[in-house]
Amino acid sequence: MGTEKDKKHKNYAVIFDIQRFSLHDGPGIRTTIFFKGCPLSCAWCQNPESQKAGPEMAFYAEQCQESYACTGICPQNAILRAKQSRINYDRCDACGKCALECPFNALRIIGKNWHYKELVDESIKDKDYFLDSKGGVTLSGGEPVMHVKFLQNFLPLLKKHGIHVNIETCGVFKFKEIESILLYLDLIYYDIKHIDPKVHKQYTGADNRLILDNFTRMVKVFPKLQARIPIIPGVNNDRGNILATARFLKQNNQTSIHCLPYHSLGAAKLARINSGPAPFNLQSITAKDLLPIKQMFQGEGIHAVVYD
Ligand code: SF4
Ligand code: SF4
Repeated sequence: MGTEKDKKHKNYAVIFDIQRFSLHDGPGIRTTIFFKGCPLSCAWCQNPESQKAGPEMAFYAEQCQESYACTGICPQNAILRAKQSRINYDRCDACGKCALECPFNALRIIGKNWHYKELVDESIKDKDYFLDSKGGVTLSGGEPVMHVKFLQNFLPLLKKHGIHVNIETCGVFKFKEIESILLYLDLIYYDIKHIDPKVHKQYTGADNRLILDNFTRMVKVFPKLQARIPIIPGVNNDRGNILATARFLKQNNQTSIHCLPYHSLGAAKLARINSGPAPFNLQSITAKDLLPIKQMFQGEGIHAVVYD
């Protein structure tokens, strides 16, 4: 007999986006499910709205026409009247009532509780496309493994429909948690952001020992693992880090890595949520900018695939 809280974690998860017809989150055409909550807080995060575990409010200042239809409705008296900010986050409990009142869609709630059966129904809508393209469903976030109890219910049902499942992970989890769902996974995209524990901590909030240990354990029991690295200029694109990453991959009998160029979409999102200013003022980079990185990996015998 579990507690009410246990039952909630098994049956529901907070999802902040579901993208159908994704082409970059694994093979074929995919539906990517974005889980809310992450144990890291990477300075370059492209989904900063994923980091907090629960639903939260976002304010799109550029859409606000200052009608203040939201003011009277708020039970917490949390509506502000400043040009660029509308929510007093010290008071707001993310009930979402103001978002329903706003005629201009300037207030939106990020994250919704999904029951696992409801999410299976949503996930299999494009099953025919998955089968034709050898695609499937990708679990992303945030960190999906934070929702392991939910996944223990969700994944067996999804697999009954014959769906290929990929999980994108930052590697921060207790190994026994991911072990409990390994049977239902076909692919793991595993991010290695920096090989130096101090630099890793500086930019993500946690050192990388658990991430690297889990990687080493995972490759021994799960052959379909694909290493990935987001390339952040000035953080992890130096020769020393790339060569050390290549060495780590070789020690773990890995022969390839996917390289993801930084893009600045996340910085724009920060202004809309309860967050500090963007820690970076970087321009997006392109696949072309990653050619020297690709060559460094190739020189070490690691096949590097560069994303667009
Ligand atoms: S691990 Fe991913 S989702 Fe989590 S903070 Fe880092 S970039 Fe964002
Ligand atoms: S989400 Fe609810 S508590 Fe928060 S500002 Fe809107 S109405 Fe007020």
